[in-house]
Amino acid sequence: MIVVMRKGTTPEEVQRVMDRLREYGFAVHLSEGVERTVIGAIGDKKPERVQQIEAMDGVDKIVHILHPFKLAGREFKPEPSTVPVGSVTVGGQTLTVIAGPCAVESEEQILTVAKAVRDAGATMLRGGAFKPRTSPYSFQGLAEEGLKLLALARERTGLPVVTEVMQPGDVDLVSGYADVLQIGARNMQNFPLLREVGRTRKPVLLKRGLAATIEEWLMAAEYVISAGNPNVILCERGIRTFETATRNTLDLNAVPVVKQLSHLPIIVDPSHGTGKWSYVIPMARAAVAAGADGLIVEVHPNPEEAASDGAQSLKPEKFRELMREVGAIAAVLGRQLAPAVA
Ligand code: PEP
Ligand code: MN
Repeated sequence: MIVVMRKGTTPEEVQRVMDRLREYGFAVHLSEGVERTVIGAIGDKKPERVQQIEAMDGVDKIVHILHPFKLAGREFKPEPSTVPVGSVTVGGQTLTVIAGPCAVESEEQILTVAKAVRDAGATMLRGGAFKPRTSPYSFQGLAEEGLKLLALARERTGLPVVTEVMQPGDVDLVSGYADVLQIGARNMQNFPLLREVGRTRKPVLLKRGLAATIEEWLMAAEYVISAGNPNVILCERGIRTFETATRNTLDLNAVPVVKQLSHLPIIVDPSHGTGKWSYVIPMARAAVAAGADGLIVEVHPNPEEAASDGAQSLKPEKFRELMREVGAIAAVLGRQLAPAVA
């Protein structure tokens, strides 16, 4: 990092900052310009140490050269990572499409959707059993019963299952049924939950928080990886902006930005990103064109009767259309849809 001193700082102040940096274990290099004095500091920096330096007399600001996410960042691991989920590999040359209802509602519902998305070529099945709802009066999910139905759908279709875990105390329970643990947008900075899924080796689908910067999101991934679990898949699902025409603003910039900053695979959720089914296919196409490693899409056999997120759910025939179109875009980019499950 570089410590930029204020204009007109005294030699004593510069000396005190250099002494403190050395005391904290940094190698220091002083550069006295005509306008400003700057101190280059090389070493392992603890965030609280940096803040202490920043508070010292004469210090204007600190400029960081390296990103704070080490394990999630490309600076320390330049090659892209892939995440194995059973026989499926997320990342690399294949495009992973996860599809299914927002929430598991009944045996008939989940089995119908699972078969429909499997036949259309989806790679994995999604479905929430624990639902993070804005209102405490809304449908909260079937809990363990929903997990059992997901396991049944996996047995019938061969599709690995992605489902959300909302609290640290449920991680063991959900891990017993799920192939991928989803961390929802509202929990992206639930640090005890991130640590707990980090203790497992289950792949984690880490959704971007509603108002999280890309750096905060990658620091959330850092929590999971630093707890011992390297199997993190990022998911852009739209952020809050002033725009009200769509439920969220799908930040497709995040795809190339994350690709540059991180080695982790990134998929896109055009369902929550737009909130309206008629915008889902165009944004799915755009996400694949932008270089996303996959998609997560809500599909429901009767969206008008869905217990949650019906307005943004595709009917199975629309999902088939999505698969045809994104498959063609993937091919242009030299990627293929993951092979259909047998
Ligand atoms: C979901 O995937 O159904 C969900 C609740 O998503 P998010 O956490 O992105 O809102
Ligand atoms: Mn949903």
